[in-house]
Amino acid sequence: MAAAISVLANEGVRVEPTAIKKIIDSEGNVIEDNTYPTRATTASDMTEILQSVISSGTGTNAQIGRPAAGKTGTTDDHRDAWFVGYTPEMACAVWTGNDDFSRMNYAFGGNIPATVWGTFMKAALEGKAIANFHKPGNDLVAVLVCDESGMKANTACPKTHREMFRKGAEPRGLCPIHAAKVDKPRETERPAVEQPPQPEVHEEDLQAPGHV
Ligand SMILES: [Zn+2]
Repeated sequence: MAAAISVLANEGVRVEPTAIKKIIDSEGNVIEDNTYPTRATTASDMTEILQSVISSGTGTNAQIGRPAAGKTGTTDDHRDAWFVGYTPEMACAVWTGNDDFSRMNYAFGGNIPATVWGTFMKAALEGKAIANFHKPGNDLVAVLVCDESGMKANTACPKTHREMFRKGAEPRGLCPIHAAKVDKPRETERPAVEQPPQPEVHEEDLQAPGHV
């Protein structure tokens, strides 16, 4: 599980789990080296979606005060509960369950595993500088969607949620079920990632030539 989700943290490159990063002998020769190269892919899109699981979704118990992405999981009858997540530095999977496969009393991915994951990651990353996920592109948009119709929410939709779409694949039309009196979107689309700040325009630059 940790190996699988680390593919996203590592921008698309799978890394075999290992307990040994590097072995160097007394003369400085490298005997074994399990460090790995990286490359950029659109795995960052998935990272962005999974960051929203922790910031505002089912995994808020896994908030650790630094960029992190992850997913909760719970099997039927609460026999298994998972939280699998990562930061730019580290991937970690937490499973809870009973060894006789009996159901747990009150456990699902978002409570016990997410809390354990957060506690562990906070300790593991303590003192390390906060790193941001690398974003090679900005091709996702966040759209407020009607729960019922799956179309863009309008002011009359009773239940809505924010959903990420690849640009061009987002719903175009407004919800036809809950037609608003004023037919306008409840919230306009916005890029999922803030654009870099534009250069400042100074007032003097706007004055007509010869005005000085
Ligand atoms: Zn609606």
